[in-house]
Amino acid sequence: MSFQDKSIICSDCGASFIFNVRDQEFFKLKGFRQEPKRCPDCRKKVNAERKPFNSVIPAAVPVPAMEDTTPIIEPTAPGAADFEGFGLNPDVMTGVKLSGYTVPTAIQSAALPHALAGKDVIGLAQTGTGKTAAFVLPMLQRLGTHKRGNIRCLVISPTRELAEQTNESIASLGRKTGIRGISLYGGVGMYQQVRNIRDGVDVAVACPGRLLDHIWQGSIDLSSVELLVIDEADRMFDMGFLPDIKQILKCLPETRQTLLFSATMPPDVRILIKTYLKDPVTVQIGHAAPASSVSHALYPVKKHLKPALLAALLRQTETESVVIFTRTKHGAEKVADNLARNGFDVTSLQGNLAQARRQAAIDKFKAGKVKIMVATDIAARGIDVLRISHVINYDMPDTTDAYTHRIGRTGRIDKTGEAFTFVCPEDGEMVRQVERILNKKIERRILPGFDYTLEAPKVDSTARPMMHHRFNNSPAPSPARRPYGGYAKKPAFSRSAA
Ligand code: AMP
Repeated sequence: MSFQDKSIICSDCGASFIFNVRDQEFFKLKGFRQEPKRCPDCRKKVNAERKPFNSVIPAAVPVPAMEDTTPIIEPTAPGAADFEGFGLNPDVMTGVKLSGYTVPTAIQSAALPHALAGKDVIGLAQTGTGKTAAFVLPMLQRLGTHKRGNIRCLVISPTRELAEQTNESIASLGRKTGIRGISLYGGVGMYQQVRNIRDGVDVAVACPGRLLDHIWQGSIDLSSVELLVIDEADRMFDMGFLPDIKQILKCLPETRQTLLFSATMPPDVRILIKTYLKDPVTVQIGHAAPASSVSHALYPVKKHLKPALLAALLRQTETESVVIFTRTKHGAEKVADNLARNGFDVTSLQGNLAQARRQAAIDKFKAGKVKIMVATDIAARGIDVLRISHVINYDMPDTTDAYTHRIGRTGRIDKTGEAFTFVCPEDGEMVRQVERILNKKIERRILPGFDYTLEAPKVDSTARPMMHHRFNNSPAPSPARRPYGGYAKKPAFSRSAA
């Protein structure tokens, strides 16, 4: 398919703006099916206005249920003290034990009794709380003995990493059940996926765009789906997947159980719940705000000092695995290159990487072979590594939701973690919003011994940086070590976050 710049009239301000070829390609790559309706300025305005209401659920003020009639299970609601109490079948119980789960997490205690009883459930929980098992176990229980051939359970995930992660959970918890799962996402060929579906699968974990591709080309039959899970619904809508989800829902049998998980409850999610869930039970765990096991600190810094501060901070801090977040894909590459040049063993994850490389980066990080991962928000979804001791926001996130999701990478289950955020003067408003959801002021820190007075290097417009080493006898700059190996690749879409 070829692309051309398109002029679009903004639905809010009426001004025309260009939907350029790069952005169109980016949209296609991400599987977005609609053109943008608003110009970038109006989009920003809408997001800024909406976020305070959409953002994380303040710990002290629980988000009200959809309707007054929808019961909320409080965090203290009685749940099974151990997994034996849920009446799971022996094969599933063995999977639970082999996965090392002994005590259910809060969201599992609250959601499992209802989900196992066949009720529609809304789970308000962020990643890192054990929410995956809260929907995987009811799936495995429902599938019972292995019947290969029909997709009876479907999970819709916002990103391929999360889809992979969920599929791994299904394989791990269901290892004694013989149940076959498949993950379906874009960026890899359709052919192998079609063959796998034909071979017979019981559970599909799919990203919306690729699932629709399969539906449209008739390579998937969803008429046997009994249980649908919509995971990270709020994130899915942030990514523009709402129209896709509605299309998918039309292809599913009406008599089914639906479980929806979301860290926050923005209006889009509420409308979807109202339309598609039947008499749902809402379960909510105490904190959808960042987990209390995470401590937060801000590092005020001038923009040009961020690379040096990051290297100094990493040298001075005792860490296990660290995830560093940047706002853009290009930024992730630059930060990773800079750390590699400073002698750190680092990998990066951003949307420009081919799937195989992304997976290789994740695998290395998961195995603890590389301790530092630089990522953008979307690329980092679903990274599930228990040893992450620190999250560093190299760039302040754009929304409080993003802050919560990033911080959800650390302080998981019974671990503690630290969240460091570099802040520039223009981040003031976002700092205030984050402090509001945390309900406390975040400590401002200065890194001891770091020279905050260094001026930004002056840009010499006459210099020819690429030729420099050939004329002044200085050694050629060593090529930036690519964190994922291979050639230095100019990002195709430098403006957009991965
Ligand atoms: P999730 O929020 O589903 O991404 O889960 C976060 C991490 O917690 C994953 O590594 C899970 O394997 C782990 N986990 C989930 N449930 C339990 C449990 N009951 N006990 C111990 N670990 C768990």
